[in-house]
This record gives sequence, C-alpha cells and structure tokens, in this order.
Amino acid sequence: MRVAIVSDIHSNLAAFEAVLGHARAGGRVDALWCLGDIVGYGPFPNECIALLRTYDCRVVAGNHDLAACGRMGTEEFNGAAAQAAEWTLAQLTPQARSYLSELPLTACESDFTFVHGSLRWPEWEYLLSSEQAQAHFELQETPYGLVGHSHLPLVCHEQPPGPPALRPAADGERVALGDERLILNPGGVGQPRDGDPRAAYALLDSDARVVTYHRVEYDIAATQQAMEAARLPRWLIDRLSEGR
Ligand code: ZN
Repeated sequence: MRVAIVSDIHSNLAAFEAVLGHARAGGRVDALWCLGDIVGYGPFPNECIALLRTYDCRVVAGNHDLAACGRMGTEEFNGAAAQAAEWTLAQLTPQARSYLSELPLTACESDFTFVHGSLRWPEWEYLLSSEQAQAHFELQETPYGLVGHSHLPLVCHEQPPGPPALRPAADGERVALGDERLILNPGGVGQPRDGDPRAAYALLDSDARVVTYHRVEYDIAATQQAMEAARLPRWLIDRLSEGR
C-alpha cells in the first residue's frame, strides 16, 4: 500500500495539489493520512477539505482546524494567525465546519499513531527536543508515531537506553521501518518553515516498509495572489516565498 502522509496543508490548494500530483506520479495513492491543520493561514479552506475527502483519508485535528470551527479560541494565536483563523471561520461551508468539528485529536492506523503536536499535548506542543520526544514515546503505544505542527521535516529515533535523537529529514531521504521506534514529521505542505519554500510530505510504502521524504515545487505566486485578494495578513503571504 502507498500512503501519502501530509500535515499543515493550511488552505494552500496549489501546494496540496502539487504534493498529490507528485505522489500519484509514482503510482496509485491508496490512502492519505493527514496530521492536522488542513486550514488556517491560506486562501482555500473549503477546497482543501473537499480535496482531502476525495481520498481514503485518516485525519486528526490541528490547532488551526479547532479554531476554524470554534472548538478552540484564538487567544493563544499570534495576531496574523488569529486574523486568518477568523477569516477562515467566516469562509467555511456548514459541511466543512462540521467535518472539522468531528475530527479526533489522535488516531491509530496499523503500526502508526497520529497526532498534530505531541501525545502529551496534542494540539499545541512542538515536538522538537529529545525531552519532548521521550515524553511522547512514553505515551506512544505503536512502533511509529506521526506528528506535524512544527512544519519541519524530522526523524526521531528512540534508541534506548540513551535519549531519543532528532534530526532534520532531507528531500529524498528514506527511513526504513524496523524494530526501533520512531517519530516522523513529514514537514508542512502549505507553509514550510525550514528555509526551503517547496511543499513537504512523506510517502509510506507499507510493503517495502519504507517512508520517503519529498519536497515538491508548487505555484507559490498563485497562492500569494489569492491571499492578497482575500486580504490575508502580508506577513503570511511573504513567508511562503521564504519557507519561514
Ligand atoms: Zn500548522
């Protein structure tokens, strides 16, 4: 089975379409696993939800999804994120809103546990340190964990008895699924933050037991123009070109 693993689409339809096109170019995509933040920041929330739902998908909620359907307030968001969340809330169709309102915070599928942030703090924690990974592993009941939220492609090996080791995952990197427990972050589809503006995702080949990280070019200007037309905050528009 080939599974596209995506996170942090953030209403960036051009980036999401490019990622799915890349995944399909290599063969049939049997399922789509999404680690949250389908919406927020970008200009096409309804379209991204609709496209996601055309796949056999397994999805958990991110903080932006919760804010966009009123399950979470925006007090903890920065100004631009809160403004985009309010814009999204006003744009969502009743169907899209009800879809977001029913998403779970965690899910399991075969050997994988999904969560947006971390198992300790599903909707908020950025899993970026060895200590945070350790706390997550203590709650992870499957061999492999999938997280998003930081928009940074990462691989974390548990490697007991030492502390877990985290490292960035490069474009084209292949991670074998063996006996060692792992936490993987595919990076952000719709708002990369590692200095590379290309959309990020990962592809699981469950027969070969390998996850491959990918970066995909997309039409950044098309998303930026739609954001300008929607009067979304300038900082959110500019950061897409920089991948920050
Ligand atoms: Zn996000």
